[in-house]
Amino acid sequence: MSYEKIDVPEDGEKITLNEDTGELEVPDDPIIPIIYGDGVGSDVGPAAQQVLEAAAKATGREINWMRVYAGESARERYDENLPEETVEAIKEHRVAIKGPLTTPVGAGFRSLNVGLRKLLDLYANVRPTYHLDGVPSPVSEPEKMDMVTFRENTEDVYAGIEWEHGTDEVQQVKEFVEEDMGFDDVIHDGPVGIGVKPITEFGTKRLVRRAIDYALEHDRDSVTLVHKGNIMKFTEGQFRDWGYEVAEEEYGDEVITEDTLWEERDGEQPADAVVVNDRIADNMLQQLLTRTENYDVIATMNLNGDYLSDAAGAQIGGLGIAPGANFGDGRLLAEPVHGSAPKYEGQDKVNPTAMILSGRIMLEYLGWDDAADLVRDAVEETISSGKVTYDLERQLDDAEKLATSEYADAVVENVEKLS
Ligand code: NAD
Repeated sequence: MSYEKIDVPEDGEKITLNEDTGELEVPDDPIIPIIYGDGVGSDVGPAAQQVLEAAAKATGREINWMRVYAGESARERYDENLPEETVEAIKEHRVAIKGPLTTPVGAGFRSLNVGLRKLLDLYANVRPTYHLDGVPSPVSEPEKMDMVTFRENTEDVYAGIEWEHGTDEVQQVKEFVEEDMGFDDVIHDGPVGIGVKPITEFGTKRLVRRAIDYALEHDRDSVTLVHKGNIMKFTEGQFRDWGYEVAEEEYGDEVITEDTLWEERDGEQPADAVVVNDRIADNMLQQLLTRTENYDVIATMNLNGDYLSDAAGAQIGGLGIAPGANFGDGRLLAEPVHGSAPKYEGQDKVNPTAMILSGRIMLEYLGWDDAADLVRDAVEETISSGKVTYDLERQLDDAEKLATSEYADAVVENVEKLS
């Protein structure tokens, strides 16, 4: 495809999907679209780019970046929030990275992040939470956390099926719920906003499958289905049941449920098998703190996943550190967990580690594990030597406060030193 609005790099090749094997074919010089994003995106985007480029180079490869636009930068250039060409470019090149995009609360356009995830069918939001040496944490043993959360990305109350108070539509839905469905005394009188929470078998099973596949590929011990099925039986409870169906019906001996483990094996986990269990969401938030080391891979719905991964992120250093990525079939869009932090925009101040480590997920997805490890090691080396941005410096004794760009330079230096 040729683009009117996007500058395509002169060098580099496209990543393609081998339809027979379902595997990506990744050249050593791929073209990778990047959206810097809004607010601090213009600080953390170039910083991540620099580090990822250095790690690729140190391992004998080259990334050819293709700048694409969404949010404010797209409005300035093209007078639209999410140009079709941006979506097409990410679709066509299969693997991309983005910074944060601002979403106004309560009014204006719908979330561009949600829109992008839907348009590209990026159904799993994956958030690894692991502790790096030297990163300050509010808990006493942050190193116990090594968890990856798979958050369903397309359904739940985030699907955007909701009606504003005072509209004809919300009145119709209210009447339908009360009169046709028989929920008479449930909704209070007066203005009401109503939303719908769809949880499908299709959406649940592909998410849980993805989490189990990940656990098997990465030698993880368990996958925990997190839900609030005791209250929301037909949505969250059904998520749990469909999740167990995947575990029991699709993996043979490789996957075993916690019940079977105790009933048939006295709690003894077979080597190489993944145990699937489930936890109620509120209990899970406690266990995250009290039994951190028991949790490995989490599979959960959209809203629970948002809360849980942010809470987990706080334990390993907070928003400046927490990375993420959105997966579809043969497709990935990496992005940090944090937002656009508008008050710090353009100040060369915030921590680019979250964006850099999101890029690390991208490198792993390309199969460049050596480059991905190098990025992690270089970030860890930089932070543990006391070179950090303001957010960590204020929590540490004797650390050196660096600007975003200075920190990126320090990480690049370590990439070169460690390679
Ligand atoms: P935010 O993550 O932008 O910022 C909250 C606070 O976290 C900041 O004030 C800052 O103190 C800290 N912080 C965030 N990123 C940091 C970094 N890299 N280094 C150091 N400190 C950092 O959250 P918000 O203020 O709720 O949201 C601002 C905007 O971002 C909103 O429009 C929201 O919708 C959007 N948002 C976008 C995404 C995304 O693009 N995926 C995610 C979350 C929020």
